[in-house]
Amino acid sequence: MNLLKIDHFDDKNGNGARMTIFVAGCPHKCKGCFNVVSWSYLTGYECTQDVLTCLFDKFEKDRQFLTGLSILGGEPLAPRNYEGVLDICLQFKKRFPEKDIWVWTGYTLEELKEQPQAIALSLIDTLVDGRFEESLKDTELAFRGSSNQRILKLGIDY
Ligand code: SF4
Repeated sequence: MNLLKIDHFDDKNGNGARMTIFVAGCPHKCKGCFNVVSWSYLTGYECTQDVLTCLFDKFEKDRQFLTGLSILGGEPLAPRNYEGVLDICLQFKKRFPEKDIWVWTGYTLEELKEQPQAIALSLIDTLVDGRFEESLKDTELAFRGSSNQRILKLGIDY
């Protein structure tokens, strides 16, 4: 799995100040996508254990200021990416059990539940789901681009 970018201090994607990872590769190809460069699985750089260790060490240094980890794309839960994302979530929760994880996906929750990616849901505290629908674009929405997308909570919605 490749990463496009890591933002070590992000206050736009999720609640509070967060560390944010952008995963490369997306199968959805939504019309009007804000991040077409993220569609290729080959862009960015490989998400090695060294990269993750650096990321977690940096999180440790800023632990008192950070609320959690956000994972966007691309499509973090694409068949080619979800095992890598699952590994990140497992390592993160082991090291920072009091912090939360937000994941943005183009799949709906209902679609995910029918696929192997469902295994990751128990580690995701907040799931922002659904493809970007250009006809439903709404720039006033928090954390979403179009009104069909939902902010779903572990233990409440799934
Ligand atoms: S799911 Fe996100 S990254 Fe993928 S095409 Fe749609 S808007 Fe773009």
